[in-house]
Amino acid sequence: MKINKSIGCTVNECIHHAKEQSYCSLDHINVVKHHTTANSQESTDCGSFQASQ
Ligand code: SF4
Repeated sequence: MKINKSIGCTVNECIHHAKEQSYCSLDHINVVKHHTTANSQESTDCGSFQASQ
């Protein structure tokens, strides 16, 4: 599997996760916010996440 060392990620439940290492395998991800104004780390997330099952 391809590993993009520019995108670290610990979400190993995602189909794009590089499993044995804490990186994403995509070339590009979309980071999104949940609220109109993001005012904390929890307000943001990976919009490219896809559940593995
Ligand atoms: S798509 Fe997002 S959540 Fe999934 S492995 Fe890549 S960075 Fe992590």
